[in-house]
Amino acid sequence: KPVVAVVGRPNVGKSTLFNKIAGSRISIVEDTPGVTRDRIFADCEWLGHKFSLIDTGGIEPFSKDIILSQMRRQAQLAIDTADVILLLVDGRVGMTPADLEVSNMIRKTKTPVLLVVNKIETKSLEKDIFEFYNLGLGDPIAISAEQALGLGDLLDEVIKSFEKSEIDFEEDDRLKIAVLGKPNVGKSTLVNRLLGEERVIVSNIPGTTRDAIDSVFKYYGEEYVLIDTAGLRKKNKIYDDIEKYSIVRAVAAVERADVCLLLIDAETGITEQDAKIAGIAHNRGKAAIIVVNKWDTIDKDNTTIKSFEKDIRSKLSFMSYAPILYISALDGQRVNKVMETVLQVSNEHAKRITTGLLNDIISEAILLNQPPSDKGRRLKIYYATQATIRPPTFILFVNTKDILHFSYVRYLENQIRNSFGFVGTPIKFLIREKSD
Ligand code: GDP
Repeated sequence: KPVVAVVGRPNVGKSTLFNKIAGSRISIVEDTPGVTRDRIFADCEWLGHKFSLIDTGGIEPFSKDIILSQMRRQAQLAIDTADVILLLVDGRVGMTPADLEVSNMIRKTKTPVLLVVNKIETKSLEKDIFEFYNLGLGDPIAISAEQALGLGDLLDEVIKSFEKSEIDFEEDDRLKIAVLGKPNVGKSTLVNRLLGEERVIVSNIPGTTRDAIDSVFKYYGEEYVLIDTAGLRKKNKIYDDIEKYSIVRAVAAVERADVCLLLIDAETGITEQDAKIAGIAHNRGKAAIIVVNKWDTIDKDNTTIKSFEKDIRSKLSFMSYAPILYISALDGQRVNKVMETVLQVSNEHAKRITTGLLNDIISEAILLNQPPSDKGRRLKIYYATQATIRPPTFILFVNTKDILHFSYVRYLENQIRNSFGFVGTPIKFLIREKSD
């Protein structure tokens, strides 16, 4: 899915525009721990085109004296993560030095930029857009976010930019692996290890307009894409220490990935930020592997792994399906397990169970543990079928939804996992009512 980022000075109307575009279709990374309340990311759709929208203004509270540095960070974030950038300016205020500064930054990238002039409520104000030609970003598009004027035309332009941008969102069938984790956990070190001598392309994939570093490498003759959320920032570390920026970049990387490597620092153990990043991968239905790095730094005895595992399983209880690896990216210890496990979980992520087999397991599960009843009605599960892969998604046809408790779905999930594994992949359920 393409990513669209909205950047601009405070009070130009970024959040208003974000809310208007996301509208009722908004589905913020819902149950991701911690990210929920920040309306930064939304899944949107226009004329059948799906995209993710980022409001960079939602990331940091603005304080007057550091506006420019914050704008630079937000612009850099947009450059790093977005496929299309919307620069929002205020038609009432007119062009400001800060607008010019940001334009200069984003004009240098290959990412398509749309210049959007907000607060143009009436025809008589339309002449106010012309001075913005000075920003050198092409034709300004006049809108009023508050009154929802001009938004359809704007979204048409956004969709056109996807087509213009050379990124092929659908057709790249190489497996994409995102390397995720908080700063200094060892992402770059691991990426360099994985690329090793085999790397065929070190910088960008030809044809991408994105500045993020995607590397293609070969493993047993197959090509894979590594999505590195650290690499580029080594040269240009302007926001790495601000957690929300890492989170937004993690979301953008996860969006494009099939398999997520969630790096944990063995020295510090699992932190809240690790849990947030893991939550993003889980909620987006991606295959996941928990990779405990810097294992060389730990004094070990025969209980060390057990106690690490216990801690991980309790703090990341929503991803009990993810395998755990203990590695040292620095000295290479067990790094060879990483790709092996990536291929395993990728297979599981794409596994399909026949309806016959699936229903055998469900019937057995029902016999073992009766479905719940409520006010004299008992839940009936008529049958189940697997609708999709990546992630495996099952439709359960039932008599009535409201007595199907979460815990019973959990139970069915466990029974399915006992029979079919699905190691490293979340499983989703869709519940459909159906009369007898
Ligand atoms: P990033 O910010 O996640 O990309 O982290 P880096 O790859 O830049 O690593 C941060 C620091 O941790 C560097 O000094 C690395 O040398 C060090 N480091 C990375 N992996 C390991 C490891 O497995 N063991 C040890 N001891 N240090 C590591």
